[in-house]
This record gives sequence, structure tokens and C-alpha cells, in this order.
Amino acid sequence: MFADRIKNLTASGIRKVFDLAAKMKNPVNFSIGQPDFDVPEEMKQAAIQAIQTGGNRYTVTQGLEELRIRIKAELQKSRQFNPESVLVTSGTSGGLLLLMLVLINPGDEVLLPDPYFVMYRHLLNLVGGIARYYNLYPNFQLNPLDIKKLITEKTKLIIINSPSNPTGAVFPEASLRQVAEIAREHNLLVLSDEIYDAFVYDSPHCSIATYYPNKTILLAGYSKSYGIPGWRMGYAAGPGDIIEKMTTLQQFSFVCAPAPAQYGCIKAFDIDMRPQMELYKQKRDLIYQGLVERGFQVTKPSGSFYIFPAAPGGDDQSFCEKAVEHEVLIIPGNTFSSSKTHFRISFAVANDVIVRGLDILAKVAKLM
Ligand code: PMP
Repeated sequence: MFADRIKNLTASGIRKVFDLAAKMKNPVNFSIGQPDFDVPEEMKQAAIQAIQTGGNRYTVTQGLEELRIRIKAELQKSRQFNPESVLVTSGTSGGLLLLMLVLINPGDEVLLPDPYFVMYRHLLNLVGGIARYYNLYPNFQLNPLDIKKLITEKTKLIIINSPSNPTGAVFPEASLRQVAEIAREHNLLVLSDEIYDAFVYDSPHCSIATYYPNKTILLAGYSKSYGIPGWRMGYAAGPGDIIEKMTTLQQFSFVCAPAPAQYGCIKAFDIDMRPQMELYKQKRDLIYQGLVERGFQVTKPSGSFYIFPAAPGGDDQSFCEKAVEHEVLIIPGNTFSSSKTHFRISFAVANDVIVRGLDILAKVAKLM
């Protein structure tokens, strides 16, 4: 009954673990990537007002003009990136799906990191693209020469995700400049997924779009930075011809991003989220120090709200199963990687939950 393209699609390993939480009394839920802070009041009010005053109809497919103007101005200011076009999408996920459908033919090769954000692999599968992985182990930093070695005449696109899900790594300017140089030499497109751009703890966020503006498609969104993953708001910015095709496809699929959420997000640009990000830096320090003190082998993340320690005992699945038995929900590294050696913690939870989770994980580690 099913189409060939869906045969290799399996349910998200993260969702499976997340669903387990519903059956537990008082779980430590380190499984899902959504911030624990509330939506800024100004954004809530703007969305509510839109619902009450007629903002319930379709917007133009590309998104409200005022919102797109603000996005462009923000990209100009934060990244000196002046994209030809901007499309407001249904989450960053919506942008990822449209981009894959617009660019990738069966057999086209796409370079992506290992570990990677799960959606890249599954969407590529769906469109028949071939994933070629550049290895980020052991410290999760990028070696641009690894990317260069993977390039063939079939390579079409390089995916960069910094700050990273699931490792928390942030790629420095020097690496991104080198990747831009390699991409330029081989005339490749770059997809830069910057959804965690606000969550950087040790140095400012750098974007490859700054160094390779003509062939980078920047995808980002509001789910994480403003605590609104359920609003489904994101955007794609880049070359006019690519964004135009994505817009056409959006006409026949999502139609437009949710209208009240678009009105709400216009306010986002006037809100200072630095206090929340300062709290997330403290969470990063708490979880990193806590893991080190309890004997875990772990690289310090510089961004996002994930940390990716080595699994005690060496087998991700057994460690995560044991942790789940003790009501701590963590995700086996193999969900994001060909390696079965690590596990992912999302530390976007209250500090007391982090500490409780750390103590339980230390106990579980002793059982391995
Ligand atoms: N990219 C990355 C790296 C992510 O971690 C996520 C969410 N987990 C997304 C994209 C999609 O986010 P959304 O669709 O909510 O914008």
C-alpha cells in the first residue's frame, strides 16, 4: 500500500522516549529539545490580538511583509548577511523539507555531520539523496579537510549545523571560513541550520552565510529562542531563485506559516532574551561540571542546550535503557549517529531536575 519513498522511514527515536514520560510518575525528562522558559508576554499579546482582530486568514505565502523586513534587517545586523529573499516557513522543519524537495534529485550527494540532527537523514532518504557524513568525533569540532575529501561530482549540498544538535558544539569563524572556501572552489550550495543561534555561551554566534552569502541558504526559527516550538515558526533566507521555488512549493503544501504566530513573531525582534540565555549558560555549567564530577567522559558544549557524553560501559542502548528504568529519559547516540557510543541529554529543564538527573545517572553508571 505504501509508496517506496516511505519504506525506509522509521519513527523518531526521540519521540519514542518522550512518549514514555507520559507513563511515569516523576520522570527526569532529558529527552526533548524545548526550552523551559515561558513565551515573552509581548509576543503572546500580539498573537492573541491578531486572533481577536482578524489575523486569522491566510497570509501571503512568503509571510507578512513586516516580518520579512524585520528578519532581513536582523540578518544584516547580526551576520552582515544580506539575502536576496526571505520566506517565512512552518518551523525550521518546514524550511528543511521544502529545501530538500526543491534541491535534491535521487542520487545527489549531500554532506552532513555525524552526529547529525535526525531530520536531515530522514528527509534526505525521503527525496532519494545520498548522505555522506563528515566525522565530528571525538571533540565534535569540524575538520574542513574531512569535508573536502568527501566531495565528488555528485555532491550538491553541504549541511552545517552550529550550534549543534545533538553535541552542543559551536564551529568557530576559522572553520566556517575554510568550509566556505571549499564550497566556493567546488561551486556547492550550503544549508546552514542556525536554529540555536541565540544559545551561545563562550563566543558570539558565527554564520557561514557571512562568508559565503551567494550560495548559502540560512534556515532558522523561533521555536527555541522564544520558547514557542508549538507555534511552528521559522524562516529561510538566501538566493532569490531557490527561495522562489521553495515559496511556490509552499503554496501547494503549507500555504503559509500560522498567521497569528507570524503577528506574534514580529514582536520578537524588540525583545531581549539575554537574561534567559544567561540562565541557560548556568545550566550548561551545572550539567557539564556535574557530569565531570561524577566521572563521565564529556566534551563541554558551547551552545544549544544539549550535551553528548560517552555512555558508561560503551553501549548507548544498554545505558539509556537502564536510565529509563530509573526514570531518567535520555536518547541513545545512535539515534543521531552511526556510532553507538554516546547519549544525548537535553538540559532545557529546571536546575533542580538537572541535579536530580545527574545523581540518578551516576547511580546507573555504576551498574554498567
Ligand atoms: N534544526 C535543528 C538542529 C533542530 O534541533 C530542530 C528542532 N529540534 C529543528 C531544526 C526544527 O525546529 P522547528 O521546526 O521547531 O523550528
